[in-house]
Amino acid sequence: MRFETKAIHVGQAPDPSTGAVVIPIYQTSTYAQEDAGVHKGHEYTRTSNPTRDALQTCLAALEGGTHGLAFGSGLGAITTVLTMFKAGDHIVCGDDVYGGTFRLFDKVFKHLGIEFGYVDTSHPDRVAKAIQPNTRMVWMETPTNPLLKISDIRAIAAITKAAKVLLAVDNTFMSPALQRPLELGADIVMHSTTKYIGGHSDVVGGFLAVADPELHTRLKFLQNAVGAVPGPFDSWLTLRGLKTLAIRMAAHERNAVTIAAWLAKHPHVEAVLHPSLPSHPGHLIQKSQASGFGGVMSVRVHGGLEAARRVCRSTQLFFLAESLGGVESLIEHPAIMTHASIPPETRTALGITDNLIRLSVGIENVADLMEDLDAALSARS
Ligand SMILES: *Cc1c(COP(=O)(O)O)cnc(C)c1O
Repeated sequence: MRFETKAIHVGQAPDPSTGAVVIPIYQTSTYAQEDAGVHKGHEYTRTSNPTRDALQTCLAALEGGTHGLAFGSGLGAITTVLTMFKAGDHIVCGDDVYGGTFRLFDKVFKHLGIEFGYVDTSHPDRVAKAIQPNTRMVWMETPTNPLLKISDIRAIAAITKAAKVLLAVDNTFMSPALQRPLELGADIVMHSTTKYIGGHSDVVGGFLAVADPELHTRLKFLQNAVGAVPGPFDSWLTLRGLKTLAIRMAAHERNAVTIAAWLAKHPHVEAVLHPSLPSHPGHLIQKSQASGFGGVMSVRVHGGLEAARRVCRSTQLFFLAESLGGVESLIEHPAIMTHASIPPETRTALGITDNLIRLSVGIENVADLMEDLDAALSARS
């Protein structure tokens, strides 16, 4: 079965008791047992639920994994991964990861004694140098957020395999429709399903996919023990979104590639950061490991902070909002909004400048989106 077919059929056979072609929302916390300990495979919904099982089976298959685990948020998924480790363990992390990931590592797990080293993973040699005897995992995103830096998953997987440490890739920006890190050598793929997988900005969720049954057993134990699970309705909404992932990603991609090329020549724009542009330093690596460039880009506008704020409040179709990956286009200001938890000095050093805005290009008509951006870039108040 190919990707689009898997999205509709894997884990989603018609309901045996009614023939319903859509997996029902099993909105139940517990399951009646025939005799003490005799049940039909489910005991309590934190541990398992048929709606969540369908999502887990389907999305794991789309990622090229053997097993999947769903969570109540992307950060719930990351937290659960981190509970595999203990004080004194060391994790190498990308220096340009999602702001909430950095906050979780730096403000929560660091205080529990887990050590972190931050490197620019777009240079695999720096990852190799950062690995210490107590390193247990490398955590990376590609493309990164919001600078769209590209890291070579195959090259980093070769390094982590040799060092016998886990490689976890946050694949939120690409989704399995465009990039499948397990097939490139990663051990764990993580998603905020809030973004492209749910795809309609109506549900928060997280996911882990693995291709190693032993790693699955460890993480499944922690999914139940930690308890950061999604409810049946949220699982159902996410599975509903998943069915159209392939066609939505193709539409996001088409619009974003068109807009990136157009913005790169716009007089009010200083620079466009999107891997589709041949001038992007990660363009060729992106082409070698993914089947597209994704719908998120960042733009440096002329005129500093004030100009960037003006653009953000002037668009009509691009809503000024955090998040990304929904069918509607969004615009945001990373330094003030999504990446405010990163200290200003670090932000500037990374390149998250005050004139940087991030776009999540939706699936509206691209001509309408370009007219909207053009008017906002030219706005004077
Ligand atoms: C949103 C996001 C997260 C966090 O996921 P939540 O669902 O908001 O908890 C992690 N990584 C990336 C790249 C994200 O965009």
